[in-house]
Amino acid sequence: MTTSFQIADMRIDRIIEGEYAFQGLQRFLPSLSDAMLAENRGWLQEAGALNAEDFLVICVQSYVVRTPHHTIMIDTCVGNDKSRPAFPAWDMQSGDHYLRALAAAGLGVEDIDYVMCTHLHVDHVGWNTKLIDGRWVPTFPKAKYLFADKEYAYWNEQNAKSPVLPFQDSVLPIVEAGRHELVSSAHELNDHVRLMPTPGHTPDHYAVAIGRGRDAAVFTGDLIHSPIQARHTELSMRADVDPIQSAATRRAFLERYCDTDTACCTAHFPSPSRVKVRRWGEGFRCDPIG
Ligand SMILES: [Zn+2]
Repeated sequence: MTTSFQIADMRIDRIIEGEYAFQGLQRFLPSLSDAMLAENRGWLQEAGALNAEDFLVICVQSYVVRTPHHTIMIDTCVGNDKSRPAFPAWDMQSGDHYLRALAAAGLGVEDIDYVMCTHLHVDHVGWNTKLIDGRWVPTFPKAKYLFADKEYAYWNEQNAKSPVLPFQDSVLPIVEAGRHELVSSAHELNDHVRLMPTPGHTPDHYAVAIGRGRDAAVFTGDLIHSPIQARHTELSMRADVDPIQSAATRRAFLERYCDTDTACCTAHFPSPSRVKVRRWGEGFRCDPIG
């Protein structure tokens, strides 16, 4: 399986932290009925997105984009040494395979110019920091980390009410190190890279579109987790802060890219994770780009 591909004048690498069965699909998508699951089981299994126990299969990964101007990392997975009592599968991860995958793509931590977190959930901020002598320090020492301003404000407020561990160990240390930049979720970095507000999963979630003059590729973050949410856009996942808004965002996004040649690079679909969007009845089909 190749994890490196070229789109227009940009090289993109997937840095995979893990790919595994995650949770029962009906637990993950609370409004998914038995009948709907039965109707979709066959093609979901064929796509590798559902296992024999009806568990959702996800990939957890970062994308690294090399534009003519910058090297940009989008989302940073779960990370190492992080105490995650609420997520047993992600608790105190260790190992060097993530940084080795980065090295295999020809990059060291000092090569990253920007880190973009589509939102501030546990599996999108983890490698922002690493543990050195008992302190959390930026993993990517030369990078500017772009957080959406309203997203940051929301999690700052949540954390003041009761501790939000990923915010404390993977976001605040970046701010304390002065490596962050709070931006609008519609921020344009330059002629190659644009953020797009895609709220619902979290209050100020953003997607990232790349390409000069057109969206050659777009990084969805968590506006979608499983291809069944393209077929049935109303299926929102249990952790969406606003499931109605999340569904509207998902439909608008899929409509925008339907029948275009934009490569939609999802955060969590199983490998190869990137798809083209095509119409499928009232909904959409996600055709993997091999
Ligand atoms: Zn996620």
